[in-house]
Amino acid sequence: MIEKILVVGAGISGAALARKTSDGGKRVVDLIDSRPHVAGNAYDRRTPDGIMEHVYGSHIFHTSNEEVWHFLNQFTEFNGYRHRVLGMVEGKEIPIPFSFESIRACFPEEDTRKIISKLLDRYEEGTKVPIMDLLKEDDPDLRALSDYVYKHVFLHYTEKQWGKSPDEIDGAVTARVPVYVGESWGYFRDTYQGIPVDGYTAMVGKMLDSPKIHLSLNTTFESVKNPEEYDRIFYTGPVDELLGYRFGPLPYRSERFEVETLDREHYQDNAVVNYPDAEHAFTRIHEYKYYLGDKSDRTVIAREYPEPFEVGKNERYYPVPSPENEALHARYVEEAKREYPNIRFLGRLGDYRYYDMDKAVARVMDVYREEFER
Ligand SMILES: Cc1cc2nc3c(=O)[nH]c(=O)nc-3n(C[C@H](O)[C@H](O)[C@H](O)COP(=O)(O)OP(=O)(O)OC[C@H]3O[C@@H](n4cnc5c(N)ncnc54)[C@H](O)[C@@H]3O)c2cc1C
Repeated sequence: MIEKILVVGAGISGAALARKTSDGGKRVVDLIDSRPHVAGNAYDRRTPDGIMEHVYGSHIFHTSNEEVWHFLNQFTEFNGYRHRVLGMVEGKEIPIPFSFESIRACFPEEDTRKIISKLLDRYEEGTKVPIMDLLKEDDPDLRALSDYVYKHVFLHYTEKQWGKSPDEIDGAVTARVPVYVGESWGYFRDTYQGIPVDGYTAMVGKMLDSPKIHLSLNTTFESVKNPEEYDRIFYTGPVDELLGYRFGPLPYRSERFEVETLDREHYQDNAVVNYPDAEHAFTRIHEYKYYLGDKSDRTVIAREYPEPFEVGKNERYYPVPSPENEALHARYVEEAKREYPNIRFLGRLGDYRYYDMDKAVARVMDVYREEFER
């Protein structure tokens, strides 16, 4: 018998699951997405100047997971791009995360020597020390460093990003801002890194190129007439919306991207420059042509402004991790399973968890094994 599967959401999670499921047995998959395009928040498109724009903000692929890497390489090549982030600190562009190179740029020579030597005495080279831990140091040189990083790199960026002061924010989030004990390195340390050579949308398009997958865009789950006719439903959308927000909405942070095309070859020296100060309301400027090395005498940049998520007004970007929000999500999932006994949630919205793209695909592999190979 042929199993009928419904996958809700054609982002990286839904698309990968549709492909795994349809390749793996006698199954047909209906894949729907409410948006007019596939690839979810990884969606990209060429501008009239031939520049690949990341419509929902910069997406850089990186993983050390062999299974994920081999799965995605069936659908695209990656260009080997290595990401580096600069931060505009007191008028200088310095490497982020804060590293020895950043210390040299921001401290006098004698202080730099003392700070680096004390960091190496205290921590193993290569350690990433969360800023909140470094603030607990009582050595005066390390305190000078942690106070500087806290004030100039961490505090305002975090306030702008989350709309809250650092002590109101979950440790999982603040741990993402470390000081790196060593010379600066690329932003990610994973074995495999890069951007799909024809973009993420093309990669997802190839993933869905199977006679057993039927894709419908501009189609919401709510418009599916008889969901109970499917053997299984995999849902990568928000569970609170599915249940009409009956327990209240799950909080998210959103972003607004102010996109500008400029009549010059480059705007900045790097794909991403952070603005961790209080003067600029945006957190970062993205210059997209760096990702695929697009040639044009014009350039496209986007200023990224964090803002609160409001239902119906903007997009969900980052789930806000906290024990209360996780409990609310779990309550929704339990309730949804009562109404749709054959439903399974996954993805950054379905699981209400921040996943990088590789982690989203790794989660798909786990869900597939649990559902179909047990
Ligand atoms: C600003 C930003 C930058 C990021 N940068 C990186 C990066 O550099 N590297 C990296 O690895 N990851 C990055 N990520 C994470 C990456 O975006 C996620 O890993 C990825 O989007 C997860 O894919 P997904 O399919 O789970 O979710 P999504 O991409 O959100 O896809 C879910 C899909 O479900 C659809 N949907 C929702 N509800 C319904 C419904 N009721 N009916 C039909 N369809 C529905 C939506 O339209 C959407 O297309 C970034 C995230 C953000 C927010």
